[in-house]
Amino acid sequence: MPETNPRILLARRPKGAPAPDDFRFEEAPLPAPAEGEVLVRHRFLSLDPYQRGRMDDAKSYAKPVELGTVMECQAVGQVQASRDPRFREGDWVLGGYGWQTFSVRPGKALIPIDPKEAPPSTALGVLGMPGLTAWVGLTDIGEPKAGETLVVSAASGAVGQVVGQLGRIAGARVVGIAGGAAKCAFVRDELGFDAAVDHRGDLKAQLDATCPNGVDVYWENVGGAVQEAVFPRFRDFGRMVMCGMIAQYNTVAGVAAGPSAPPGPNLGPVVRKRLRIQGFIVSDTGWQRYGRFRAEMLGHIAAGKLRWKEEVVKGLANAPQAFMGLLEGRNFGKLVIALD
Ligand code: NDP
Repeated sequence: MPETNPRILLARRPKGAPAPDDFRFEEAPLPAPAEGEVLVRHRFLSLDPYQRGRMDDAKSYAKPVELGTVMECQAVGQVQASRDPRFREGDWVLGGYGWQTFSVRPGKALIPIDPKEAPPSTALGVLGMPGLTAWVGLTDIGEPKAGETLVVSAASGAVGQVVGQLGRIAGARVVGIAGGAAKCAFVRDELGFDAAVDHRGDLKAQLDATCPNGVDVYWENVGGAVQEAVFPRFRDFGRMVMCGMIAQYNTVAGVAAGPSAPPGPNLGPVVRKRLRIQGFIVSDTGWQRYGRFRAEMLGHIAAGKLRWKEEVVKGLANAPQAFMGLLEGRNFGKLVIALD
C-alpha cells in the first residue's frame, strides 16, 4: 500500500487564463476510510471546462475550490480499501474526487461500473457527465425532430460529439462547428454528422451554405463569435440549448468584459421568433436518470450508432498544462488524465 497521495492544489486564483503558478503539487498522507467510506485509487481524472469556474471566487451554482485545497474533478478508479459492504477491493467505480491519486468517498457517492461493458474511462465521457449532459439537454430542451437542422458548437468535444450523434439518431440533420480541418473531418467522416464547419474560417458563409433552411436547434457550448454567427440563422420556434460558453470562461468571472471580450449576440429576435432559450446544469436532474441514460447509450453503442473520441494525457503532473489547453481548444475529444 502506498503511503502518500500525490495531488495538485489550487494555489492562486487565476486572472484571466490559468497559469502554471496557479497550481501546486504536493504529496499528502494517504487518507484512511471511516465506517461507510471507501478509499478509491484513481485511474482516470476528468478535465472539464466547468473546473475553470471553480477556480474563481464568484457566486455560482456550486462553491469555488478553496485556495490550498485539491482541484476539483470527477475520477474513475478502483477500490483500494472499503468499509462499505457494497464494495470490494479492485471494484471499478465512478465518483472519485479531485486532481489526486486517491480519494476517500462515502460508499453512497460511488457508482459501480462494469469494465466489460465499456472501457472504464468512458464513464467520464460518453457514458459519464458529458454524455449525460448531451442526453439531458436534448431530451428536456433541444428535442430535435426528424428533418430539423441541429447545429452544435465545440462539436468534436466531450459533449458536442454525443449531442450530434444523438441528434442524428433522432433523425435531425446535424451540422457541427469545430476548430480546424482535423476536427471537422472527424465529426463529419467518423461520427457521421451531415456537415462540419470551421469557426476559424468564414463561419457565417459556411453556415449559410450548410443550413440553407436555417437552424431549428442550436446547442451552445461556446458563446462569443460562434453564437453571434449562429443566432440570426434561427428559424421560427427554434430552441437554443444553453449548455456553456467556454469562450468566456477566461474573462472576469465568466462575464465578457473589456476590449478583448468576444462579441455578444443580438438576442432581440427571441420574442419575434418565439424562440426557447434555456440554460441547465446536468446535476439538477441528470444523475437521478443515470441508469436510463446508461442503458440507452450502451444500446446505441452495441448497435454501432454511437462512437467516441478521448484525448488521454498521461501523468498527474501534466494535468495543469492539459487543462490550460482545454480552455484554448487544444484538446481533441474528451480530455482525461491517465494515472499509473
Ligand atoms: P470540450 O471537450 O468540447 O473542450 C472544449 C472545446 O471548446 C475545445 O476543444 C474547443 O473546440 C472549444 N473551445 C475552447 N476554447 C474556445 C474558445 N476560446 N473559443 C471557441 N471555442 C473554444 O468540452 P466539453 O464538451 O466538456 O464542454 C463543452 C461545453 O459544455 C462547455 O462550455 C462546458 O462548460 C459545457 N458543459 C455544461 C454542462 C452543464 O451542465 N450545463 C455540463 C458539461 C459541460 P474547438 O477547437 O472545436 O473550438
